[in-house]
Amino acid sequence: MSTSDSADNSLIDGGTHDVLVIGGGVSGLMAATFTARAGLDTIVVNDGESILRRNAHVENLPGFPAGVNPRLFADMLQAQATGNGADHVSGTVTELTGSLKEGFTAMVETEHATSKLNADRVIISSWSDVSYLSSLPVDIRDAGSKQYIETDALGRSTVDGIYAAGRLTEKYHQAVIAAGDGAETAITLIHDSETPFYNDWVAPEGYFTDRGRDVPPGCEEISATEKRARERASMAAMQEYFEEPHSDRQRTHPSLVDDPLGRVPTDE
Ligand SMILES: Cc1cc2nc3c(=O)[nH]c(=O)nc-3n(C[C@H](O)[C@H](O)[C@H](O)COP(=O)(O)OP(=O)(O)OC[C@H]3O[C@@H](n4cnc5c(N)ncnc54)[C@H](O)[C@@H]3O)c2cc1C
Repeated sequence: MSTSDSADNSLIDGGTHDVLVIGGGVSGLMAATFTARAGLDTIVVNDGESILRRNAHVENLPGFPAGVNPRLFADMLQAQATGNGADHVSGTVTELTGSLKEGFTAMVETEHATSKLNADRVIISSWSDVSYLSSLPVDIRDAGSKQYIETDALGRSTVDGIYAAGRLTEKYHQAVIAAGDGAETAITLIHDSETPFYNDWVAPEGYFTDRGRDVPPGCEEISATEKRARERASMAAMQEYFEEPHSDRQRTHPSLVDDPLGRVPTDE
């Protein structure tokens, strides 16, 4: 499955989402996973390809001691966000307007239409496009051909209700850093909304309650049976992911080949 396969553009329906994530690359999908798991109605709009898909073999991600195909990893991140309840639209955000008080509206260009998408809060993770922010007072730093969004240490931009994560905030250019930044920014957003302090932990049954404590917000205690069921499901899913080499073609810099996504011919 490639990222675009799971997009459902009928989700742009005029309703208001709790969180709009602009950019479904590493930071955006990690942010969406956290906000969706916190019970916030989350929608991701992504217009193309995480820059990570240009990599040939990622060898510095936590949990992959032998490395991993970057296109497979991007698909797994997508599946993790949607599996935890985030919706996904394939389109380009061309304008963002509004405020925390009145809500935000994004203009989203999809293959066949331009539609409005409404959200209470927005996470921007659209490396490297900030053009759609021109009508909002979001502080942006010009650095030659690149532009970076100014945030506080936890991902809040200079506009209340708008957050930013990933390379677009001038973080170091590694996937684990983008993922961590997406998670941190999402938790900041969760804390800023009505949600109580949030951990997002899964603990064994009794871990809190056998000590006379309530299960904290965003935590879960699961039984040994449930733990085994989840482990088995995880093993089956990972076996499926790693059964065959990934079918997507290698990407390179788009300026090097005659393909808008930088796909090179297969060599096998
Ligand atoms: C050749 C290459 C090799 C690399 N190798 C490694 C490596 O080995 N290890 C490592 O840790 N890192 C590596 N990186 C870096 C890593 O890919 C990035 O640091 C990481 O992907 C940044 O995550 P991000 O979420 O900020 O941006 P991205 O993952 O690029 O995500 C941004 C997303 O926003 C979307 N978007 C942009 N504008 C809009 C818009 N207007 N509307 C909707 N969507 C939009 C884009 O299509 C994209 O999907 C490599 C990068 C390259 C180029």
